[in-house]
Amino acid sequence: MPWTYDPQNIFARILRGEIPNKTVVDTAHTLVFHDIRPHAPVHVLAIPKGPYVNLDHFAAEASAEEIVDFHRTVASVIADLGLREAGYRAITNAGLHGMQEVPHYHLHILGGRTLGRLVDPA
Ligand code: 5GP
Repeated sequence: MPWTYDPQNIFARILRGEIPNKTVVDTAHTLVFHDIRPHAPVHVLAIPKGPYVNLDHFAAEASAEEIVDFHRTVASVIADLGLREAGYRAITNAGLHGMQEVPHYHLHILGGRTLGRLVDPA
């Protein structure tokens, strides 16, 4: 089944400059900005600028240049936000079971405190 991208999703609108954001880093293929409802002292979102719905879409169809740019940018943000030593969590949600709210691939990067268990066991 092919992936279907909704160009009206909120992150597409941020990328078009229709909605403001608090930018951390802006590169050729990647934008990193602060989450509007942070769940930790540090909570940023890394998104590719291309129209990818989720991780598996990005991993399957993005160019090597986009994939390298995205991950190198994530690495620099982790260093710049001071997360390397104490650690952090990187999460991506996909689809119904992942409870993805915004259908544009994004990696949550959280840190600044101990983050508890990965998944609610319930
Ligand atoms: P998801 O549940 O899709 O993995 O996470 C979507 C995230 O996007 C949530 O953490 C939510 O707070 C964040 N978010 C939703 N709308 C906006 C917005 O307009 N601006 C910013 N900066 N973050 C948003």
